[in-house]
Amino acid sequence: MFIYDFAQGNKDMRDLLGGKGANLAEMTNLGLPVPPGFTITTEACRTYLETGREPAELHDEVTAHLTGVEKARGKTLGDPGDPLLVSVRSGAKFSMPGMMDTVLNIGLTDQSVRGLAEQAGDERFAWDSYRRLLQMFGRTVLGIDGAHFDEALEDVKRDRGAEHDVDLDADALRGLVRTYKSIVSEESGRDFPQDPREQLDAAVRAVFDSWNAPRAETYRRQERIPADLGTAVNVVAMVFGNLGPDSGTGVAFTRDPASGARGIYGDYLANAQGEDVVAGIRNTVPLADLGQHNKEAYAQLLDIMATLEGHYRDLCDIEFTIERGRLWMLQTRVGKRTAAAAFRIAVQLVDEGLVEEDEALARVDGHQLAQLMFPRFDERAQRTPIAKGMNASPGAAVGRAVFDTGTAVDWAQNAHEQVILVRRETTPDDLDGMIAARGILTSRGGKTSHAAVVARGMGKTCVCGAEELDIDLGHGLFTAPGGVEVREGDVISIDGSSGEVFLGEVPVVDSPVVRYFEGELDPDAAAADELVGAVHRLMTVADDRRRMGVRANADMPEDAARARSMGAAGIGLCRTEHMFLGDRRRYVERLILAEGEREREEALEALLPLQRDDFVQILAAMDGLPVTVRLLDPPLHEFLPDLTELSVRVALARERGKEDSGDLRLLQAVRRLHEQNPMLGLRGVRLALVVPGLATMQVRAIAEAAAIRADAGGDPRVEVMIPLVGAVQELELSREDAERTIAEVRQRTGFSAPIPIGTMVELPRAALTAGDIAQVAEFFSFGTNDLTQTTWGFSRDDVEGSFFSAYLEKGVFGASPFESIDVDGVGRLVRIASEEGRASRRDLKLGVCGEHGGDPESVHFFHDVGLDYVSCSAFRVPVARLEAGRAAV
Ligand code: ADP
Ligand code: MG
Ligand code: MG
Repeated sequence: MFIYDFAQGNKDMRDLLGGKGANLAEMTNLGLPVPPGFTITTEACRTYLETGREPAELHDEVTAHLTGVEKARGKTLGDPGDPLLVSVRSGAKFSMPGMMDTVLNIGLTDQSVRGLAEQAGDERFAWDSYRRLLQMFGRTVLGIDGAHFDEALEDVKRDRGAEHDVDLDADALRGLVRTYKSIVSEESGRDFPQDPREQLDAAVRAVFDSWNAPRAETYRRQERIPADLGTAVNVVAMVFGNLGPDSGTGVAFTRDPASGARGIYGDYLANAQGEDVVAGIRNTVPLADLGQHNKEAYAQLLDIMATLEGHYRDLCDIEFTIERGRLWMLQTRVGKRTAAAAFRIAVQLVDEGLVEEDEALARVDGHQLAQLMFPRFDERAQRTPIAKGMNASPGAAVGRAVFDTGTAVDWAQNAHEQVILVRRETTPDDLDGMIAARGILTSRGGKTSHAAVVARGMGKTCVCGAEELDIDLGHGLFTAPGGVEVREGDVISIDGSSGEVFLGEVPVVDSPVVRYFEGELDPDAAAADELVGAVHRLMTVADDRRRMGVRANADMPEDAARARSMGAAGIGLCRTEHMFLGDRRRYVERLILAEGEREREEALEALLPLQRDDFVQILAAMDGLPVTVRLLDPPLHEFLPDLTELSVRVALARERGKEDSGDLRLLQAVRRLHEQNPMLGLRGVRLALVVPGLATMQVRAIAEAAAIRADAGGDPRVEVMIPLVGAVQELELSREDAERTIAEVRQRTGFSAPIPIGTMVELPRAALTAGDIAQVAEFFSFGTNDLTQTTWGFSRDDVEGSFFSAYLEKGVFGASPFESIDVDGVGRLVRIASEEGRASRRDLKLGVCGEHGGDPESVHFFHDVGLDYVSCSAFRVPVARLEAGRAAV
């Protein structure tokens, strides 16, 4: 059975009937006025694609179901005296750009067009329908460039002095049909088929074929939609919105999909057919106006919309047509919506008793929440939109337009200007400019273009593929539609959440959602807006349901305080590298250059109180909550002067005969410490083992800080984390040293609270020997950034800007493994280490630090693996809380 009548399907059959077919069936069975029709299944399409031919039974099945439709309408397809007409509509499980467009009015021929005119008593209508068929069939089935038809239409309109297509009379349209037919003959090499069934079969086959259109294929690979699903085809009896002023067609939403406000919302166009509403052929009127012209149909429409919402328990969007006063439903589906609307509607539905809290939580996601947290352009401000591209990386950026990387870096660094880097497309050569810019604007490329991938990786605002812009790099300017010219240095504003480009500066405001998280907005106050209230409600549900804790990565006291207000239950990663920077670099230099124990100890002695102070402040900000401090991780040469700069300095001094012995020694040290692959060099626990006293000093600073906090009446809960361990022996050695130091501090200060010692798991070897390592570690924290680098053999800094966009385009992965955890590879290591670690130490605490801790999909994975907490940047904490809740329901 390759065909289902609308009465035979239902909304849960999307695999077989596609989204459109399943919902048409559902509406039919709800008793709503859907024109009769049937759905050819995705299975028929799959057979066709595999074998190159329709299944043998299909022809007869089409005949049988077509006869059913003919009976229901009392007409025969293409009958010269009184023709039944049908539409042929594609409809896959997931809606997909690149799939074939709908063909309306199939069944019209040189004969039946006259029958249609007679039956309807309207010549104009019949010829209008016929010219539409020729145009749609020619373009989508025969693959003729649509411009031919558009030009011919414009010519007739010009000749007749007609402003709109409705102003053309029957005579003009008859002439247009003649022209269209000759376009078809000339461009396709054959005449337009005059056999109605041949039209139908050709259209069905074209829908099947469109599954493999290049645009559809690319889209599928990127969205990870399996390539073998196939599409269904819907054949629907035509109803006519172009039968005069009491006819029309429209689209509607049961709530506002932009804001989420209650109340219906939509557009209507009288005397029109199909896509006219969205194609902007004429000006539509708001849906409510329909109520004035046709009370009855309008009331029925409202009634149906209420039925659909109650039935789908969600926002629905619909397509409908009114034929001479009578309402027909042509499509419905659970409607797309903005992030703000998603939150508001989810909570409204709870209040209306339509869904439970858990379900409401499932209907929003962390990506939407993140969107709501970006700063935005002030909506009340005056804005001058000049173009629209793709919303590649969210945010609101304002700056001076610059057209090359050199200028971007120069202006940003030397003139402290905010710049927007404008390029046709970016390449790895533009990396420095992208880093220096506030935002990036390109005229070419989609969401996996180099610009888009790199911008998202950097968290930088990006609008890409703004094709209307004509960028003239040579003259340092671009032109936008309407002749607007923007030269180097002119200020523009780009909105990475909507893809809009504005001329001049649009003021930026903080998101109210962030102000709420930071405690500036009271969600219960009457004045709080509905969106903030909705976010608050769903966050409360998420916090209640989640099993995992959420901590933050924070290195400074201010970050810690901010993270706490965002709901972080501690610090999962406190890096200590910044404690060696700035003025403190000279102590690091002294440490490295030290000759003999005395000098080295002096350098460490100088660093100790500074670090201790830092820890005291962070522990104060996180009083009562765990703080995991990671011992120094990066290679020491990162704290020394650059090799080239220092070499030049030394050489110059030598020429002048003023050699500086300090500089000379420093240069030798820099040369000695230089590494080909610093990422794989002397860093992490390796430093603790071979640089005497360094880790000891850090542990002492940590323990003494805890003691100071406890003395002051605080509740310090510090944990020591040893990075980059690959072998249990490394951890044993560094742990012994740390324990000795802690014991000595305890003795001196009387401090007695526990200081757990654990390790970061960020090397495959650590994951694979986790059972042994857990014997010596009280906790594991998965460092998924480094674990991804070391598992894939990718150097993050090098690959993201070079070949990752190509990998995404070719579909090697759907998202960068640095953004979303690679479940099959890196994830497998996490799973092995968790299981084997817990097997050897039952109460081993497991967490993750690194960007993945704030990525929605990764959070679900970490929940499934059984981690105790995730840790992410402060800004991502609410996202992780929400997703940890969603993972648990
Ligand atoms: P899309 O998936 O692009 O929305 P549709 O198959 O829904 O394509 O059809 C395109 C337009 O044609 C829509 O406005 C739809 O309502 C209209 N349409 C489709 N079938 C019919 C029909 N049988 N009678 C009247 N209008 C139709
Ligand atoms: Mg549609
Ligand atoms: Mg690391």
